[in-house]
Amino acid sequence: MRSTTRRRILVTGGAGFLGSHLCERLLGEGNEVICADNFYTGCKENIAHLLPDPYFEVVRHDICFPLYVEVDEIYNLACPASPVHYQFDPVQTTKVSVHGSINMLGLAKRVKARILQASTSEVYGDPSVHPQMETYWGNVNPIGPRSCYDEGKRCAETLFFDYRRQHKLRIKVARIFNTYGPRMHPEDGRVVSTFIMQALRNDDITVYGEGRQTRCFCYVDELIDGLVRLMNTGDEITGPLNLGNPVEFTILELAEKIIELTGSKSRIVFRPLPQDDPRQRMPDISVAKKILNWEPAVSLEEGLEKTIAYLRGVDIQYQDSLISAGGKG
Ligand code: NAD
Ligand code: UDP
Ligand code: UDP
Repeated sequence: MRSTTRRRILVTGGAGFLGSHLCERLLGEGNEVICADNFYTGCKENIAHLLPDPYFEVVRHDICFPLYVEVDEIYNLACPASPVHYQFDPVQTTKVSVHGSINMLGLAKRVKARILQASTSEVYGDPSVHPQMETYWGNVNPIGPRSCYDEGKRCAETLFFDYRRQHKLRIKVARIFNTYGPRMHPEDGRVVSTFIMQALRNDDITVYGEGRQTRCFCYVDELIDGLVRLMNTGDEITGPLNLGNPVEFTILELAEKIIELTGSKSRIVFRPLPQDDPRQRMPDISVAKKILNWEPAVSLEEGLEKTIAYLRGVDIQYQDSLISAGGKG
């Protein structure tokens, strides 16, 4: 029999980096969780530890196609997030944000579920306002290599607000800034995982440009807490709401910090800056502080230590698998 207090929650992209932490958190709170993922960039290892839980269910599904389930809440996270992954098949990237969002909004409309969209700081493009607040409309190139992601996510926000205006949907839009932590994909090209893997292997650390571009890094557990708090606000709160850690670092500073924390012998080398790479990024989180009573507290050193420990384990497993494959041969 169905419990009256247990909510049934759909997490799309639930086998990814953020999604797997979100599924874990929601199950821990006593909810029933359906993870829908096509394993495009996510993997079963991220959610294997949740499978024994009878209230956890995995559906292999591409959200560009309709999905019929009965749920109370939807967290829409399905979308490749690293530049390397989202530029690999850019048409698919736009489709997942646009067709995928339409399907999830149609589902929310039918079952009258609350729905939260994982939007991004990329909607601000290469910002001419610093720090970025939610009222800033952004500076986005509509035809560049990042546009499939940036414009896809911007269109998803439009769809969310039009479904609210047209169909009275209960929506929440979170603009997530760079987040890092355990279960980041070691090869997805994002700066934190890339620099850590390079440092652990004593390879050259590839800083793009002169490394003067800035980012702010939020530890995963704190970001997930912000998402859950936003979902649990009253229906009048829609966002868009910035979620991120407002402490700014240059990419060169990040490289130096990772070399120090890993005790690596890596050298820093400079490579060309990719086209349209945002020069500076930092969230203004005053609205999140006020509405959610939320503010990140984990320092970059503390979060990096945990991420390094995780990626060290992944690297050891990988080296072991090479040795055993060599042994068999
Ligand atoms: P991720 O690549 O680890 O996770 C994305 C997940 O979505 C993967 O499991 C992937 O297999 C799945 N997916 C992709 N296309 C799908 C489809 N068509 N149907 C079903 N599943 C699909 O990335 P992440 O870092 O966990 O990001 C999750 C969400 O948060 C994304 O929407 C991303 O845009 C957003 N976001 C993340 C960050 C960050 O720093 N991590 C920043 C801003 C926004
Ligand atoms: N949809 C879905 N699951 C549902 C309900 C709808 O995937 O439970 C999809 C459906 O395929 C449709 C989309 O959501 O294409 C948008 O639905 P909506 O009701 O907004 O529009 P319509 O069905 O009128 O095109
Ligand atoms: N970056 C870098 N070397 C790398 C990977 C990334 O210098 O090997 C830089 C990249 O140019 C960008 C920043 O790090 O300025 C963050 O890149 P990431 O891909 O993690 O995220 P995003 O650009 O989407 O914020």
